[in-house]
This record gives sequence, C-alpha cells and structure tokens, in this order.
Amino acid sequence: MQVDLTTESWAFLSTKPAGRRENRYALIAVLVSALFFFCAVPFARTPLAQFPAFIPIYVSWLVICDLITAALLFGQFSVLRSKALLIMAGGYLFTASITAAYAVIFPGLFAPPGLMGAGPQTTSAMYMFWHVGFPLFIMAYTRFQAKRATPVLPLPSPAARQKTRAAILRTAGGVLALVLAYTVFAVGGQAYLPEFLNGNRTTDLGHLALLGVWAFSWLALFMLWRRKPHTVLDVWLMVVMCVWLFDIALAALLNTGRYDLGWYVGRIYGLLAASFLLIVLLIEDGKHYAQLVQLSAALSAANKQLTHLSRHDGLTELANRRFFDEYLSEQIAVAKRYNRTLALIMCDVDQFKAYNDHYGHQIGDACLRQVAAAIQSCCKRPADKAVRYGGEEFALILPDTDLAGGARIAEAVREAVSHQHIPHERSSIGSHVSTSCGVAMLMPQADMTAQQLIGAADACLYQAKNLGRNRVVCA
Ligand code: GH3
Ligand code: MG
Ligand code: MG
Repeated sequence: MQVDLTTESWAFLSTKPAGRRENRYALIAVLVSALFFFCAVPFARTPLAQFPAFIPIYVSWLVICDLITAALLFGQFSVLRSKALLIMAGGYLFTASITAAYAVIFPGLFAPPGLMGAGPQTTSAMYMFWHVGFPLFIMAYTRFQAKRATPVLPLPSPAARQKTRAAILRTAGGVLALVLAYTVFAVGGQAYLPEFLNGNRTTDLGHLALLGVWAFSWLALFMLWRRKPHTVLDVWLMVVMCVWLFDIALAALLNTGRYDLGWYVGRIYGLLAASFLLIVLLIEDGKHYAQLVQLSAALSAANKQLTHLSRHDGLTELANRRFFDEYLSEQIAVAKRYNRTLALIMCDVDQFKAYNDHYGHQIGDACLRQVAAAIQSCCKRPADKAVRYGGEEFALILPDTDLAGGARIAEAVREAVSHQHIPHERSSIGSHVSTSCGVAMLMPQADMTAQQLIGAADACLYQAKNLGRNRVVCA
C-alpha cells in the first residue's frame, strides 16, 4: 500500500481547491435551503405559539457548534499559520460569544426583562451587531490568501509555536473583549439605542437597520465569490452565507416580530448555518484520521520490509553479513554467559570462478541460490543460522553445538550441495559443484573473540582447499 503525503486528499479545507464534487454538494445544500425558504416566505408573518424553550435550545446549539468550529479552525491555523484561518476562527468565536451574551440578556430567559438591567432594545442591538460582525469577519477573511502550502509541513520550532499560541490568544482575547464591551454598551446605553422593537414587533426603523445588515451579508457573499480559485472552505462559507441570508430574511425582514413562523424558521436556518461548516470540518477530520491509520499501517509494513532487506541477502534470501556480525557476537556473549559451546562453519564453493567463466554470471547466480537452499536445509534448530558471508562464501552459526556436532552439520552441508548434482564441467575435483568447509568451536572458558573464531574456521577452510577441496576440516 502506498500513501503519498503530497496528494490533495491530505490537504486541509482551507488549502484544498474546491473540485466539482464539493461544488455539487454545496449547490445542493443551497438549493434545498432555498426551496424551504421560498415555501416559508408566504407564511412568514403567521403568528405561532410562544415556545419559551426554543431560545435556550437554539442558543445552546449555536454556541456549542460555533465554539467547536472556532476550536477546529484555530487548530488548522496552528498547523498552516494562515492569517485568513485565524480571522475565520475569530469570526466563529465572535458568533459563539455574542450568541451567549444574547442569551443572557434575552427577555424572559434568565430574568423577565433580560439580565443585568437589559432593556427592550438591548436584544435588537445585540442581534444587529452579531449579524453585521460575522459578515465583517468573512470580508476580512477574503482579504487574506489562504496558504496553499503542501500538506507536509515542517514541524514548527518552539519559537514559532509560541508565536502561533500568542496569535490565537490575542485573537480570542480581542474578540471576547469586543463582545463584552458591546454587551456592556447595549445594556448600559439603553438611552442611546434607537427603537428597533416595539413589544414583539419590529419597528420601521428596525426594518431599515435590518435591511442594512442584510446588505452586509450580501457583500460578504459577493467577496467570497470573487476570491478565486475557491478553496473548499470558501465554498462552504458561501453556503453558510446563503443560509445566513435566508435566516435574516425570514427572521428579521419578512416576518412581523418574535414568535411568528418566519422567526422560527429563520432561527432554524441559523442553526443550519452554524452546523454546515462544523459537519464538513468533522468529516474532514475523520478522513484525515482514517488516512493516518492507513499511513501508520503502511509505515509499519514498510519498516518490516526494510528491516528484512537490511538483514537479508537479495540473491539467496539468506541472512547477510550485517546479520552475521550482530548474531555471532550476540550468541558468543550468550555462550560465555551460560558456559555453552558454539560452532561456526565457514563454507566456500569450489572453483566457482571457473564455473562463472564457463556458464556465465546468471547461471552462476542460480547456482548460488541452489547452494544457499542446500545449506539452509541443514539448519534444523531455530537458533542455527545460515548466512551468505560474501561472494560464494557461506557461514553457519550453530549455538550450543560442539566441534563434533559442527563437523556433522558441515558434512551434511557438503553432501546436500553434492546431492544437488549441479553440473560443473570445469571442476578439477568432479563433474558437479562441490563445497569445502572449515569448522571451529568457541570454548566458553577461553576468552575467544568473534574475529578469532572466524579466523579459526577460515584457517580450516583454507586447509580443506589445500587438501584438495570438497571436504570438511575441523579445528
Ligand atoms: P576456490 O575453489 O579456491 O574457492 O576457487 P574459486 O574460483 O571459487 O575462488 P575465487 O574466490 O577466486 O572465486 C570466487 C568467484 O565467485 C569469483 C566471482 O566471480 C564469483 N562470485 C562471487 N559472488 C558472486 C555472485 O554473486 N554471483 C556470481 N555469479 N558469482 C559470484
Ligand atoms: Mg570458492
Ligand atoms: Mg571464495
């Protein structure tokens, strides 16, 4: 399995260009919202029952959704460090906090006229600020290019991380201070607030102000549209703005006041607007998580393969020289610790240069593979290891084996190779490929090193060659 980190599936919403699929989903969301909107318009002024639990449900939903969205966007900012993302995260924190403040002062929710001495105009003033503020954040967002960086980002230095954290804290602090200051003004400055609401009904002045607020949202939508090429985040923010426009139209412009059909349906649009981006962000997170799991599985498989490659010989599939060095010193240490013997066989193909010269290197390779298989077949115990020492030389490490045992295995190796009956026309010893072996043993009491043991086995091998090849010599 191959996972390419630079593929666009790893990109974030804010860096991934919107494809046909994203555009289609977004369009469907807008069309369905528009359909319900036009169905609701003729009944917008129909008064409905006052359902007091509606506002707390609505507000809690909005606050939770917007807070999570803000947290996810701040999270993306901390990775991508794009100003646009920081602003959008700030925008969502703004709606979350102003909605919370709106709930606190909403009449009848915590206290009959609204908490902290909020007057009849306070909620309207809060609503206006809320619905102007969010489009303003969107407009600011469109002024900054989202970073179209590769998804594989270098790990930030501690200083950069500190800077990112400071930027998040500054933004969050600024937004909260702004909302708090405005709330204090809307509550305390009753006298300066124009009359937007008369009882539960919106005044003409209120409608005019709401029209201005609505125009602001159109402008934000237009600016999002103009910012091309669209990222997936841009597309979903456009959906949010469309639903947001339906919300204001129904709940503030086309209806008469609180608790009529337009007001209720508009608020439901508000909930949709808050949920859309969150759902898309959560789906993205899920995808990234699934990809991480796949990547981690692919990585561990690749690691296993790399470990195998680093310790095995590509031609014969036997263990290689690196493994030999490690395993031999390990087993020598074990043998010394537990006072056990260890036998080492060095094995060399006889007159292999002549074989290669006569049959060619490819047949030579095939011969080496056959010899390796024959040698491997002589390793009966799990701790016995056959390795390709180099060229046409092989070695067998036989832990817990004495010299006689080593000699027996070496003889078995020599016979196994002979029994393969690999023709060798240029051999001066016989008509088939043969091997010579030297066997040495580690005496646990003697302070013998790996080099000395190899040297001893090698000396025996040299002797076997001198004695006419195709034989075993023991130290
Ligand atoms: P001796 O009986 O004394 O061992 O004679 P030899 O010809 O086997 O000894 P020498 O060390 O001179 O030759 C070894 C040859 O093994 C030389 C080289 O061409 C061949 N050889 C080493 N590694 C490979 C390999 O991976 N593939 C092939 N085809 N040949 C190899
Ligand atoms: Mg040889
Ligand atoms: Mg050799």
